[in-house]
Amino acid sequence: MFKKLLIANRGEIAVRILRACRDLGVAGVAVYSDVDRGALHVRMADEAYAIGPAPSRESYLRIDKLMDIALRSGCDALHPGYGFLAENPELPRACANAGIAFVGPPAEAMERLGAKTAARELAFRAGVPMVPGVREPIPQLEAGRRIADEIGYPVLLKAVAGGGGKGMRVVAGAHELASAWRDAASEALNAFGDERVYIEKYLDRPRHIEMQIFADAHGNVVYLGERECSVQRRHQKVIEEAPSPFMTPELRRAMGEAAVRLAREAGYTNAGTVEFLVDANRNFYFLEVNTRLQVEHPVTEAVTGLDLVELQLRAAAGEQLPIKQQDVTLHGHAMECRIYAEDPENHFFPSPGKIISWRPPHGPGIRLDEGVYSGWTVPGDYDPLLAKLIASGGSRTEVIARLQRALSEFQITGIRTNTLLFEKILANPEFQKGAIHTRWLDERLASLLPAPVSDADSPSEALEIKVAMIAAALWHVCQTKSANEQPAPSVSRWRDDGRREQISRTPDR
Ligand code: ADP
Repeated sequence: MFKKLLIANRGEIAVRILRACRDLGVAGVAVYSDVDRGALHVRMADEAYAIGPAPSRESYLRIDKLMDIALRSGCDALHPGYGFLAENPELPRACANAGIAFVGPPAEAMERLGAKTAARELAFRAGVPMVPGVREPIPQLEAGRRIADEIGYPVLLKAVAGGGGKGMRVVAGAHELASAWRDAASEALNAFGDERVYIEKYLDRPRHIEMQIFADAHGNVVYLGERECSVQRRHQKVIEEAPSPFMTPELRRAMGEAAVRLAREAGYTNAGTVEFLVDANRNFYFLEVNTRLQVEHPVTEAVTGLDLVELQLRAAAGEQLPIKQQDVTLHGHAMECRIYAEDPENHFFPSPGKIISWRPPHGPGIRLDEGVYSGWTVPGDYDPLLAKLIASGGSRTEVIARLQRALSEFQITGIRTNTLLFEKILANPEFQKGAIHTRWLDERLASLLPAPVSDADSPSEALEIKVAMIAAALWHVCQTKSANEQPAPSVSRWRDDGRREQISRTPDR
């Protein structure tokens, strides 16, 4: 096993990897930008090194600085986490040049699967069913028109370099194609420096079901079951669960075996996820491969009993997979809520700032993978994921009840979060029945969430809001004084914070 691991990431995933290091007796080395000096991952690390100013381009995305720190601190391995450089083949290359093991797939496999069109080509060769569409970027609009006519509207324009739902546009008919094309290409250029797009058939309300795969460097490849991630807002996952309530043993095997074929075709090693869309008739279609650990990996850990980060480190150190396909058994159910610093009642605006209090839930079946603590100021420079709340139990019903209990215990003040949204989703009868699809949340959002606060038009409601604002302001001042911490934030800021706190939550939370 390695002696020292550099974690090229921040937040909850850096903390998660540090925990695996502790379990394995590996020293964990953190890096931090100027605004992350006091972050939880820095506090928990055995050593920590400054990596630059807040903008990730000048810090967490600097391969040269990472390599310098890895070598200076005597690391023999590097874990990229997810996001940032996790799917950039230049990172494993730089590691190889520096003689440091990269905890992830080889650069070549990343390249083969990185561009969505390249991955589709590979999936085609591996006999994996995929969404109807092309397997190469489309050179210009006219060619796009012909292809869209052939496939039949609605179609989806997708960025070749896509990720995070960026550079994606649904096109209902031929008249919308030109403007959607312009939007998709310019968004893709901004986000990825690559404006190429391609076309897929837009499936009507599919489910998003993905397969966790794992491969060692000795030719062993297994699938570790699926995760359903159909609860999405604008193509971004909000809740994930394992197993999928829609799954059958036959479908699991077919999807798992397809994912393994693709991994073999790509020469893949380490943890990876093959994403699929599944239609109402249980036909499945390849979507893309994520060549890294996923945000939602804990639900797979809960139902398989495996520690995926430990497996990653062992595979990167050259160990054989300790399990064969027949050893993989799934037990019970698990579900994850992504807790973000954002305001669902105000167009999901990010809500960075100081966490005044953070009282996490505990109890049977609850796991919290967090990257923050009480008193920490969440910077506005990065993805606002604060923590992942994961419940596991014998059945889906039990898991939903446990998440509801955990959310009712969870106290976060000082910043706004999306916990209210989870309470609404978990209480929804359709969700409880598992009757979900990738458009489900977007279509129901308006009915799930209360109208924005500014819409309060009755005098009594307006008075209630004012009283709540004053109470929140007083409370905030008392908290700040008694904690003898930073000077109180500006009036407009705490008034706004307090107002949201008091209105979206019960008074004692
Ligand atoms: P990204 O890499 O940008 O996240 P994905 O290809 O993984 O993009 O797709 C993200 C989500 O977008 C899917 O989970 C699904 O909700 C939606 N989506 C993608 N492709 C299609 C399609 N062909 N038809 C319908 N929905 C799609």
